[in-house]
Amino acid sequence: MKPATKFIHAGMEPDPSTGAIMTPIYQTSTYVQEAPAKHKGYEYARSQNPTRKALEDAYAIIENGKYALAFSSGVAATDAVIKLLEPGDEVICANDMYGGTYRLFTKVFEKFGIKFVYIDTTKTENVQHAVTGKTKLIWVETPTNPLMNVSDIAAIAAIAKPKNILLAVDNTFASPALQNPLDLGADIVMHSATKYLGGHSDVIQGALMMNDKDLREELYFIQKSCGAVPGPMDCFLILRGIKTLGVRMKAHCENGKIIANWLRKHPKVAKVYWPGFEDHPGYAVAKKQMKDFGGMISFELKNDSVDEAKRVLSSTHLFSLAESLGGVESMINHPASMTHASIPREERIKNGLSDSLIRLSVGIEDADDLIEDLNKAIG
Ligand SMILES: *Cc1c(COP(=O)(O)O)cnc(C)c1O
Repeated sequence: MKPATKFIHAGMEPDPSTGAIMTPIYQTSTYVQEAPAKHKGYEYARSQNPTRKALEDAYAIIENGKYALAFSSGVAATDAVIKLLEPGDEVICANDMYGGTYRLFTKVFEKFGIKFVYIDTTKTENVQHAVTGKTKLIWVETPTNPLMNVSDIAAIAAIAKPKNILLAVDNTFASPALQNPLDLGADIVMHSATKYLGGHSDVIQGALMMNDKDLREELYFIQKSCGAVPGPMDCFLILRGIKTLGVRMKAHCENGKIIANWLRKHPKVAKVYWPGFEDHPGYAVAKKQMKDFGGMISFELKNDSVDEAKRVLSSTHLFSLAESLGGVESMINHPASMTHASIPREERIKNGLSDSLIRLSVGIEDADDLIEDLNKAIG
């Protein structure tokens, strides 16, 4: 089945009691049993919920996986993956990943004796060199947030697999419409469903997709034991969002391309980060592993001052100044003071994230209106 069809039909069965075409929001905490331990597969809603099950079935299908689990947020999904580990284990991860992932790793998990090794994963040989006998997990985000760095998923999987190291990929930026890491050899895909999967900026949720049954059982055990499960209303919203993922991503990509090229020609813009440019260092890999280049763009102004960046950030009208991304509406963000403020300044600068960097999540409005808005703001 082609992706656009899958996005609409994945996980959806008419409701058995009424035939409702949309899976109902099963707003219940428990299920009545006929006799002790005689039930219909549903005991208590932290462990199972029919709306969540429909969504988890859909999640698996849209990432070409066998299994999937839904979590109350993207970071809760990441948290569950790290809980597979034990003190003394090492994790190799990218040095410019999502700020909240970095915070979870350094501020929450380091104190439990898990070691995180931050490297530039765009160079596959760095991953090879960082592997030790204690490496249990490689955590990759591609393209990265906000510098749009691209890592080669298949090449990293080829390093991880023979050594039985798990490879997890944060696929939030690309979405399943543009990139499917399980097909490239990853063991776990993580999504902040809050972004493109939901698509309408109205819900927080996370997802994990995988092929291995034992891995699914371990993660399911963590999901029900730690309890970071989404409510049924949130599951319903994501199920609804996924239906339009195909058309939305097409529009995000078209607008992204137009705006990246327009920004690049703007006399006041110094540098534009977008993996669809042929001279982007990750272009060849992006072209190989992604179907298109997405609607996330970052740029720096020639006037490299925080004040000038803040002036532009406060001057747009269609681009809303907000954290988050992936909604139908365009958003503008200042990583240094917003999404990535939890990363110390020296770390940020070292990794190429300047104080004046501006990040755009290009929505699906008319591109002419978006350009007019940016043009007025940049001045
Ligand atoms: C937002 C985001 C997360 C965290 O997800 P939440 O749903 O906000 O918890 C993780 N990774 C990336 C790339 C993100 O953009």
